[in-house]
Amino acid sequence: MATKENPGEILHKYGLKVTATRIRVLDVLINSPVALSHSDIIGLIDDPMIDKVTVYRTLNAFTTQGLTHKVANEDRNWLYALYFHNSNQPATSDDHAHFICRQCERIYCMPITSMNPKPDVREIGGFVITSHEHRIHGVCPECH
Ligand SMILES: [Zn+2]
Ligand SMILES: [Zn+2]
Repeated sequence: MATKENPGEILHKYGLKVTATRIRVLDVLINSPVALSHSDIIGLIDDPMIDKVTVYRTLNAFTTQGLTHKVANEDRNWLYALYFHNSNQPATSDDHAHFICRQCERIYCMPITSMNPKPDVREIGGFVITSHEHRIHGVCPECH
């Protein structure tokens, strides 16, 4: 990820109190090229003393503050990723897609600045968009 900020500075910027667990969770997310589940993150922290509930609450706090977002994997479990993955610019849910590798089933966030896949539901009427996701299926560079 292209950021020079350290985890403590990032937490501060997003209005999150700096705690040891938050630093560790953020560090794992910064160093992952793919979206991670709660158990992936626990595994990568690799500390039997880590409190799983605290990690869960940390991910919720990150998501509420807009530092991370959730994406469902093919088994409908939630994965978490930073909003500014693979980009110098913070991404929003509307300007990036999720690439799902059909071999390793990992999910990558990728920018889609050159196209606008959002349907224009104003034409139909009665629909209110609360969130929007663009999913792309294929094979990732690690798998071919
Ligand atoms: Zn793959
Ligand atoms: Zn994403």
